[in-house]
Amino acid sequence: MAWRLRLRFTNLRYGMLAVILLLSACSKESLVPAEHLLPKASAKNILLICIDTVRADVFYGLGDSRKDSFSVWQDRATVFERATSSSSWTAPAIGSVFSGLWQSGHGAGQLPSPSFEPGSGIIPASAEIAKPTALYEAVPLLTEAAAQEGFHTAVISASPWTNALGDSMGLNRGFKEKFNIGSSGSRLGFSKMKEAFARKQKDAPFFYYLHFLEAHDWHMAPEPKLNERIAKFSPEERAMFLQVAPPRACEDEQSLLCKRYLVYASAVSRLRKSIATMLVKMERENLLDDTVVILFSDHGEEFGDHDGDKKLVKAVELAPGRFIGHGQSMYQELLHVPLIVWHPESEGAVIDRLVSLVDIAPTVARWLNIDFLPDQWPGYYLDDHIEPSQKALDRVVYASGIVVGEQQMSAQQGAKKSIWYMASDQDSYFDLDSDPYEIHSEPSDNLVLLFDGLFLDYTQSERDAELESAPLTNEQIKRLQAIGYLQGLESDADTKKN
Ligand SMILES: [Zn+2]
Repeated sequence: MAWRLRLRFTNLRYGMLAVILLLSACSKESLVPAEHLLPKASAKNILLICIDTVRADVFYGLGDSRKDSFSVWQDRATVFERATSSSSWTAPAIGSVFSGLWQSGHGAGQLPSPSFEPGSGIIPASAEIAKPTALYEAVPLLTEAAAQEGFHTAVISASPWTNALGDSMGLNRGFKEKFNIGSSGSRLGFSKMKEAFARKQKDAPFFYYLHFLEAHDWHMAPEPKLNERIAKFSPEERAMFLQVAPPRACEDEQSLLCKRYLVYASAVSRLRKSIATMLVKMERENLLDDTVVILFSDHGEEFGDHDGDKKLVKAVELAPGRFIGHGQSMYQELLHVPLIVWHPESEGAVIDRLVSLVDIAPTVARWLNIDFLPDQWPGYYLDDHIEPSQKALDRVVYASGIVVGEQQMSAQQGAKKSIWYMASDQDSYFDLDSDPYEIHSEPSDNLVLLFDGLFLDYTQSERDAELESAPLTNEQIKRLQAIGYLQGLESDADTKKN
């Protein structure tokens, strides 16, 4: 698949300006000076925790609404309030975390769509009926570099995209130990980590990755199951969940949408408590003395935020009810994610600078002194917040990768954001300060030129290499279908015993 040059660039009116923009966008000097960063090798171990499908507003809102066991830990952490994912769904986002690259650089989770041309009006195949592409084999991962340098690496995951079923997507490369925690959830996280720990050589540093699915799964259960869970909420809990509800989720408290949201909020609340419990246990065992812990989500979840949005109509035609879920848009309910860091040499802070999941790999490599430096690196060090360079302040964050509907790409610089609908070649332009819910698209000549240049830069960062569909087994397909992916894909698993 190739993202071709935008049609608008054939227009000579914009030719010169486009060249100027392109030149400035391509002059890469992506990593900031090191003077004001935490020292290299300032921690020994790393624990990465992905809480799948957690949107930032609900996650932080729950703590703001009422202090819980996580609040104490949040006060001790560096909290990146404006963190963005590099995609609207799991595989491309996790690819970015481990490679430090945008999806255009790592390749994971793209859709095979040979006939796709921008502006053609052709809607590419949906990932619900096609196998997504695997990570490029030639792209090195932070985990592989860590394993080579003697780190004990383990993935402990409830997600079929990253757990022990095999590594057809390429996202598990570098992990020596693989634990599939199935549906048992975040409460088992610490005990599984201890199991991994027991297999570690005494002095070896560790690189562990936990991936939990409560916020991905609980609210997608059938309605009777939702009712069962909701019946157990205390009046205070219910009130708290409603208080932080996205604007349109609970206009009707008896609606299925609101029930799904309430159960989702309870899952996010559970995750907050599980992570707090895990951190308490780690501290008791002195594991936090030399370990960096990074908590993030791979993407958010929509609860009717853009219900009726005409730009998304194609997604909804393909999959009715798609104003709930993820993978269908590049709006903030899917891209704005929690990102929280506990570092043994940092007292913590609240940072409102724009950061991205692609920043995790360079930062971890620096803190743990891992020799890892891929080409095309777009990330910035997360601890550059003390005295950020102008380049870091002016940075652009991208997202791409759609599961259902029209392929889209977004770019954000400061509060300005644009979404490009690639097949129909339409764009939206938002100011997230004045219009945080992305309701009023307000194009201007300057914004059109700016974002055309940025999108062109992104499409040109794509690797010149063939993408391969992930060789998923029937068992993997079945497991992915159970959590909502690959719904139309045929497998012969049904016809086989076991
Ligand atoms: Zn996910």
